[in-house]
This record gives sequence, structure tokens and C-alpha cells, in this order.
Amino acid sequence: MISLLSAFLQLFFPHVCDHCGTDLTSTESVLCLRCQHRLPATDFEYYDDNPVAKLLYKAPHAMAAYYFSGAGMLQQLVHKFKYHQRKDIALQLGRFIGRRLLQCSWLHEINCLVPVPLHPQRQKQRGYNQAALLAAGISEVTHLPVITDVLVRLKYSDTQTHKNRLQRRVNVANLFAVKETSALPGRHVLRPGQHVLLIDDVITTGATTRACSEALQQANITVSVCALAYTGH
Ligand SMILES: [Zn+2]
Repeated sequence: MISLLSAFLQLFFPHVCDHCGTDLTSTESVLCLRCQHRLPATDFEYYDDNPVAKLLYKAPHAMAAYYFSGAGMLQQLVHKFKYHQRKDIALQLGRFIGRRLLQCSWLHEINCLVPVPLHPQRQKQRGYNQAALLAAGISEVTHLPVITDVLVRLKYSDTQTHKNRLQRRVNVANLFAVKETSALPGRHVLRPGQHVLLIDDVITTGATTRACSEALQQANITVSVCALAYTGH
């Protein structure tokens, strides 16, 4: 009976690898183990002077889990979670990042996770913030709390995909602010002196994460950075 039910579910909700289409086992989600191992891991968690840390040299620690290569598997997954409502993909990739973060010698310094916010209007259009879903996946593995209501995006900026480096810098100036939050039971509140891990999806120039960091630093918060992927540029 159980196998009949699972066969029925399989028919309507195929539990297959998003990349290669093979059936997933009950312990796999989104990607089969084979495709998981094919994701282009950076191994940045093993060295402090990695390219993302160099790019964000003011951050005590910075890393990205994967290389973002054009037309690759990861690019397709990011496209699906950003534009095709595939929240499950962002959550699962967050769990993968979390496992990599466990290898970082500095993880114990971190008090909480803060995702890079979307402008409220954009978040309403999309229905979710993909960086917050990545953070939720990371939190499942690392047990660090996620704080989503402290950092706010002030301006509605167009997608930065087609802008050059200088335009991006200008575009992100004063883009973020830190909001005063009240302590409610069960809610984590960011306090001055704490060390947050800022969570982003894809880092290219680092301009967005730098702008977020500056807003948080003004509130006397220490900011390290972790992204799903790094484009290299
Ligand atoms: Zn696969």
C-alpha cells in the first residue's frame, strides 16, 4: 500500500533530481548525490585569504560556497529560485552552504545570520526573499538564528546585471539602513557588539554586501559575509 501511494505521488509530484532527472532517494532533495558533488565548490571555507575575503577585505571573514559559472548547473538553479518560485531549491542550497560553513574555524564567532534584504516592493512581487531562504537552510544546519527585520533596503533599484562596476557603486550608496527592533518573546534581536554573518546569493563586485555591511557597522555590528556563489570578475 505504501509503495502504491509513493508510486502515485511519484506520478504527480516526481521526486527527481532537478539537474539530471534521475529518481531521488528519500534522503535526497533537489539534487541527487552525484549532481551535488558536481557543483563547483570553491573550498573557500578552508582558507581565510580566499578571493571573496580579498574582495571584502574589511570583513573579518568572508566566503562563498560555489563558483558561479555561466550556463552551469548552479546558474540554472539560481535562475529557478529567483524567477520561478522554486523556494525549495534556495532552502536546499542553504543546507549545502551550512555544511561548508561547519568547516570554517571562525563560525563560533558568529551570533546570527542576516540575509541581504530585497526592497519590500520586489519581495512582494516575488513572494519571498531568496537570501532569507538560503539563510533558513544555513540555520537548519548551523543552528544560528536568522534575523530578517533589522536590515532594510531603502531604494527600489533596477537589476544590476547590466551595470558596470562604477555604476553599481553609485547605485548602492545609502541603499540600506538598520532598523530599531523591539524585543518580543521568542524573537532574536541584534545588539551592538554582535557579529553577524551576512547572507547573499551571488557575489560579483561585492558592492551590495559592502553597502549592507556599512549600514550594520554604523550600528556597531561586526559583519562577516557568506554567499552561495562567487562569479569572479
Ligand atoms: Zn542528478
